[in-house]
Amino acid sequence: MADSEKEATEAPTIFDKIIKKEIPSTVVYEDDKVLAFRDIAPQAPTHILIIPKIKDGLSGLSKAEERHVEILGHLLYIAKLVAKQEGLGDGFRIVINDGNDAGQSVYHLHVHLLGGRQMNWPPG
Ligand code: C5P
Repeated sequence: MADSEKEATEAPTIFDKIIKKEIPSTVVYEDDKVLAFRDIAPQAPTHILIIPKIKDGLSGLSKAEERHVEILGHLLYIAKLVAKQEGLGDGFRIVINDGNDAGQSVYHLHVHLLGGRQMNWPPG
């Protein structure tokens, strides 16, 4: 990996401040590996972000390597638990935006959990 690319994947984001509780967020689940909090600009009645507490180069899913398999599985499992906790028994959607074309705006891997309304397909 080029030095500039490494810098980009390790660069701090607003989510570091949320993890350190330096800026407020509404946390709905937390353990030693992940934090789940309500999105500040919800796109559905329930819109939660689930993020790894340690970025470890995961600026986005496209940067995933074999060492990340455990945290990737954990993020999805916690998404399922939080969906249940939020009462999303009629369904929910998981989104991971990766890169410019997907509209990714924060370069710290995050899983969107959306629910509480009928979703459309294809997504915009
Ligand atoms: O997938 P994408 O990178 O676009 O998602 C970033 C998400 O982080 C957005 O949905 C945005 O509303 C959310 N966000 C937040 N709190 C912040 C900054 C961004 O919930 N302080």
